[in-house]
Amino acid sequence: MTQKKILLPGAKLGVMGSGQLARMFALEAIPNGYEVSVYSPESHSPASGVGAKEFVSEYENEEVLLAFLKTIDALTFEFENIPESALTVIEEFQKNSNLLVHPSPNCIRIAQNRWKEKISFRDARIPTVNFYPLFTEKDKNEIPSKVSYPCILKTNTMGYDGKGQVKCRSKEELISAISDLKELNHIVEEFFPFTSEASVIFARFQDGSISNFRPSLNIHKNHILDLTFHPGNFPPNLEKNLVDYAKKLAEEIDYIGVFGIEFFIKGEEILCNEFAPRPHNSGHFSQDSGSISQFSLQLRTLCNLPVPKEIPVRPVTMKNILGEDYKPGSKLWTKTLENPHYHLHLYGKKEARMGRKMGHWNYSGPNPESAFIGWE
Ligand code: ADP
Ligand code: MG
Repeated sequence: MTQKKILLPGAKLGVMGSGQLARMFALEAIPNGYEVSVYSPESHSPASGVGAKEFVSEYENEEVLLAFLKTIDALTFEFENIPESALTVIEEFQKNSNLLVHPSPNCIRIAQNRWKEKISFRDARIPTVNFYPLFTEKDKNEIPSKVSYPCILKTNTMGYDGKGQVKCRSKEELISAISDLKELNHIVEEFFPFTSEASVIFARFQDGSISNFRPSLNIHKNHILDLTFHPGNFPPNLEKNLVDYAKKLAEEIDYIGVFGIEFFIKGEEILCNEFAPRPHNSGHFSQDSGSISQFSLQLRTLCNLPVPKEIPVRPVTMKNILGEDYKPGSKLWTKTLENPHYHLHLYGKKEARMGRKMGHWNYSGPNPESAFIGWE
């Protein structure tokens, strides 16, 4: 285990990425006395709107990236699709400096590549869907006869919110979908007819100690998270298994920091879908659950600050606000804001495009299961 280094208020923290997750991290870190800088190609970003200093350049720009790294004491990530060249620069810089980097570039490499991610699950003995590589001409010829249908053809890298996925009901459909691909570098996964989806927000510290929230129940709409119910109220043995799988993954890949891990559930059966090496959309409930949030956990893992032994939470239901639902001033929003149990979090994005995450509501009052019924 690496030696424990504590970063006290006044320390300078950096984030790769400057969107809503960096913004919410800054909203935790800045009021606690830390300086936050963010790096991304975007200017006037969500994170800069709350006081983070911006370094604006392409991720591949070594010169600006090095200038950014020289100004900070610790670095974390708000998303996983960081180009390999940037990860290499960070790793090399870290070798010759005192910069703390959590999670490690290696964990980012695993999370940004579905194949590596699923191999890590397998190595950690975490059950996952049957999956096959589609990397070579040989794979292309063999896989359609090996896989069970329905299946999903997924891009191996750069996928998010269901992008780069095609569901195939038959061998003919898969062959046709494969022939439409511009490049191989995909995987084929068998479709799992789950009855529910769950996630766990999990943190692991530099000394190997851990902290986590109970599992949440998630509902997706058009492959994008719509609602999270926390806690998910799964049977106790199932909850325990979900948390155990998160812990196994963290130990297998020596993860330090916060991550969100997603599961499919059917009866007693659990299959792990994927993990995100950062706070997760399904963990936003924690901002209004009456204790510390996932962003506080991120700050504390990065700076080696203490955490409570247990994180007691009140039930919260979270609903995402996508571009098409972004209606400030509407009757619905006005009525909702009159209710003290609804908490609005907006990301400061100027353009409300279809499917773009603009913010979320957290509801922390009575009957959390029915907080957003009739909102469609
Ligand atoms: P993304 O990286 O885009 O979030 P996911 O692999 O999490 O990709 O897929 C998005 C959603 O699509 C999942 O949350 C789930 O609802 C559905 N899905 C993905 N893979 C499968 C599968 N193998 N079986 C059943 N549903 C799936
Ligand atoms: Mg997902």
